[in-house]
Amino acid sequence: PIGRTLMVHVVPFSEDMLLLMSEDITQGERLQTMRRDFVANVSHEMRTPLTVVAGFLETVIDGLDDLEKDDISHYLGLAHEQAGRMQRLIQDLLTLSALESDAPILQEEAVDVASLLKEVLQEARVVSAGRHRIDLDCATHARLLGNAKELYSAMANLAINAVRYTPEGGRIQISWRQRGSVVEYAVKDDGIGIAPEHIPRLTERFYRVDRGRSRETGGTGLGLAIVKHVLSRHQGDLLIDSEPGRGSTFTACFPARRLVA
Ligand code: ADP
Repeated sequence: PIGRTLMVHVVPFSEDMLLLMSEDITQGERLQTMRRDFVANVSHEMRTPLTVVAGFLETVIDGLDDLEKDDISHYLGLAHEQAGRMQRLIQDLLTLSALESDAPILQEEAVDVASLLKEVLQEARVVSAGRHRIDLDCATHARLLGNAKELYSAMANLAINAVRYTPEGGRIQISWRQRGSVVEYAVKDDGIGIAPEHIPRLTERFYRVDRGRSRETGGTGLGLAIVKHVLSRHQGDLLIDSEPGRGSTFTACFPARRLVA
């Protein structure tokens, strides 16, 4: 087929015959390109905050004799913020690599949905710091079979994104519903929304609609990649419905057979 890369091997077969063997290496090549892109992306993501940290530290070192105490603590504070960004990036990379290692879900248990979502709500409210109205609609005593830590990280990621991409005064609704054979965890916001052409690529590592904005809000660009992995390990799916300027709804769907009585 067109678009595939073939490697041809020429092997002497007998005195007067050569054997031609072709091998399809398309997949291997694609993996190598992905690996190269990934290393380039990670290096770039690390270099930016590191440059800022180095810059602020240099300013402090050079100005130790002349700078006011307040200025020194201002510069150190900024350096500290960037170090935090690097820590988050490394944490997300480690999470992603553990999820990709294909290990079976560790410690699968019956996770109490209501208390999991209460914690998600609390975390979203901490990140929002009172700037949004955030509600939780969850009238269930259901328990979902899965890994509590992974599920929390996926659900909290969606809720925190809603906070990050919704201007002050916006409304965020977190809900849990069962619809026939599917259970849905949905996070709806009335924030900036996403243009349709970006939606299919959002779960790629480091894909962002607006690089600058994501940086400003402290994002690593890995959140939705982590969400997608966690969901697929729980036979779940992610649906994204969004309109620029009106808001987004991110829905995680799980098969209802994962519910335990
Ligand atoms: P980031 O750390 O950049 O938020 P994610 O993987 O969590 O990385 O999200 C990828 C991109 O998807 C974001 O940079 C942002 O452009 C977009 N996005 C995610 N959630 C929302 C949302 N609720 N509203 C608008 N855009 C969003």
